[in-house]
Amino acid sequence: MKLNGNYSKLFENYLFAEVSDRAAKYQSAHPDKKILRLGIGDVTLPLADEVIKAMHLAVDEMSKKESFRGYGPYEGYGFLRESIKNYYKTFGVELNLNDIFVSDGAKSDLGNILDIFSNDNTVLVPDPVYPVYADTNIMAGRKIIFTNANEENGFLPMPEKVVKADIIYICSPNNPTGAAYSKEQLKEWVNYANSQGSIILYDAAYECFVKDDSLARSIFEVEGAKSCAIEFCSFSKIAGFTGTRCGYTVIPEELEKGGISLNKMWLRRQSTKFNGVPYIVQKGAEAVFSERGMAQIQQNLDYYRQNAKIIAECLDGLKIRYTGGKNSPYIWLKCPMGMGSWEFFDYLLNGAQVVGTPGEGFGENGKGFFRLTAFGSREVTQEAVLRIKNLLNNSN
Ligand code: PLP
Repeated sequence: MKLNGNYSKLFENYLFAEVSDRAAKYQSAHPDKKILRLGIGDVTLPLADEVIKAMHLAVDEMSKKESFRGYGPYEGYGFLRESIKNYYKTFGVELNLNDIFVSDGAKSDLGNILDIFSNDNTVLVPDPVYPVYADTNIMAGRKIIFTNANEENGFLPMPEKVVKADIIYICSPNNPTGAAYSKEQLKEWVNYANSQGSIILYDAAYECFVKDDSLARSIFEVEGAKSCAIEFCSFSKIAGFTGTRCGYTVIPEELEKGGISLNKMWLRRQSTKFNGVPYIVQKGAEAVFSERGMAQIQQNLDYYRQNAKIIAECLDGLKIRYTGGKNSPYIWLKCPMGMGSWEFFDYLLNGAQVVGTPGEGFGENGKGFFRLTAFGSREVTQEAVLRIKNLLNNSN
């Protein structure tokens, strides 16, 4: 018996544990102080009424012999795939039903997709980024090249001719930087991938926050993407399904490498290792795309957008540079007064009792940066912003 030795190569990520630890220590030393958290990546608003109604109806269906459902299709029920297909039409993307695979969330599929790729591929991962891309490839022993996302390129790295990568990760709008690629910029990545025979794994988990028309909601808005890209999306951020669990992956039927269909490989993989998402959850997800569901969900998204605006305006007033906050729930700021990420974390915790996320937990280029999120409540966001303003204005 041999264990997978690659696990010992994973960087120990103490980020969120360290954040909680420092906040807990502060709280026990200052029990009278109220800590405000603007570091969370989880949503706080409940599921929309339409979603809850649809799920209740589905529960009732499960209670009757005539409408009870057992195992569902591996790739998801037709009704949900149809509504996802129609959703893509709203931003001009035509998909086939067979391109769409329903899953229990983007994180699972981002990890599981690697089953269909050989371990000797070279992988290109932006730094900083959502840690799952690097970690899942380290587990499989793949060679990883990091591409710098920094102030010079507006946290949007572009292809470099010298780098040869087989699998390219793109996350837009990005976690943690909030930066989002324009369609033109994505076109460069698509051309690059097609010219090298590479595959782009495109994480669109935050597409619902994109408002500007020049920015992409989906990589399939770009011509040529169907011959080089797989897209991952989620109901977590658009509709608060972080605990309910549902997402989807789009693998165009025409995506082939060496005459082999990646869509067919994925179906084979899913039918072997996955037994589908609960019917009740898929009915809830379908309701997200109904007219009333969408209207309710837009209200929730607007609530988070307004939080982002409140944070962004505070930073504008303090003349602190940042990306995101406009087409993203994340605000990525440059720590003021030349502070390091953890130094700024302690400064905010001690001086304003506000907790955010130190950027260096997302990669080397995150050093000296800090992530705030718009997923808190309005009251907490407003109060936190006030405290940050007071603290920084008094120290200038
Ligand atoms: N992709 C990115 C960039 C994320 O930030 C997250 C969650 O925070 C996910 C994917 C996970 O999505 P899901 O809840 O669908 O697994």
